[in-house]
Amino acid sequence: MKVILAKTAGFCMGVQRAVDTTLKLAERKDPIATFGPLIHNPQVLEQLKEKGVTVLEEIPEKSEGIIVVRAHGIPPIQKKQLEATGAEIHDATCPRVMNVQAIIRKYKTQDYFTIIIGDKNHAEVIGLMGYAEPQVAVVSDEEDIEKLSITSPYIVVSQTTQDEVKFKQLTDKILEYHPDGKIFNTICDSTHNRQAEVREICEKVDAMIVVGGKGSANTQRLGQIAMEMKVPVFVVESKQDLDLQKINKFECVGISAGASTPTCVIDEIVCALKEIEGESC
Ligand code: SF4
Repeated sequence: MKVILAKTAGFCMGVQRAVDTTLKLAERKDPIATFGPLIHNPQVLEQLKEKGVTVLEEIPEKSEGIIVVRAHGIPPIQKKQLEATGAEIHDATCPRVMNVQAIIRKYKTQDYFTIIIGDKNHAEVIGLMGYAEPQVAVVSDEEDIEKLSITSPYIVVSQTTQDEVKFKQLTDKILEYHPDGKIFNTICDSTHNRQAEVREICEKVDAMIVVGGKGSANTQRLGQIAMEMKVPVFVVESKQDLDLQKINKFECVGISAGASTPTCVIDEIVCALKEIEGESC
């Protein structure tokens, strides 16, 4: 079996930065927590837990030690509430996400309405909404566009991990209904390159494996892209999820992974495929 491993598989810059920041802070041995899961990957969250990093689901009234803000960012009101707890706050929001927050903040001061193209319940989108409220709507599909009611000039931004093709389709549709919007394609370069490479690999393989956390939206989106390319796709969180009997029948298999998937998990998958051929790792 031939295996093509995507060059872009694994941690993106923002995830790497958030994990490195947290692991370094954990070395200080002070109480340390992240506000919400730092990233959407169970193996990495387990590793952080082993280093003593806990996860806060709610903002406490008072806190000592360190609180790290996750890579997806949070609404500004929550940042203020965290600061008021007395804890030492470290903001690990990805710079690409901060860029989207800055665009929204700039246009909000000029009374623009904000449309965010993204997944309504995703942490990044909830954070972005906090910068735009109350003049904001989230668009996930064409039905949402029909319901839009815009009374002022508006901007469109994207959740950083959206699908490029879908972003273009939805923005074209929004402009049909409401001409003269300002469109900012804020899909990050890491997402762009990863999606482009999956489409490229799908042209060459008989099946595709996408590795990543079940809660990772960008992983699920890569799986969706492979499916749209009409390639059989297996989205797996770890080696344990691999159906080797089914995969065995393909001659050429591609592997990609979400932005929060650690290299060790990807390596295990590559190894499992090599073992099918009797090769050792
Ligand atoms: S996917 Fe892009 S925006 Fe999201 S954390 Fe990674 S680099 Fe940042």
